[in-house]
Amino acid sequence: MTNRVVEGRMVTSETLAELIEGERPMEATEIEDADRECPDCSGNVISVGYMPSVTAFVTGYKCQDCEWSDKEE
Ligand SMILES: [Zn+2]
Repeated sequence: MTNRVVEGRMVTSETLAELIEGERPMEATEIEDADRECPDCSGNVISVGYMPSVTAFVTGYKCQDCEWSDKEE
């Protein structure tokens, strides 16, 4: 399953990465469960790996219920 619901909207890997990064990535991996809770609302957190540029790879985290997101480069 590649599509998830985030803040009431269906997202793909690319649109999830776009929500976290602010712009569409060059590539994105499958969405996975991050196995952690949102620090703001205790909601479920999902993660996606993506490349904002040719030389960078970022793991992004996003709460499914609120605006919280985080990323690790
Ligand atoms: Zn949350």
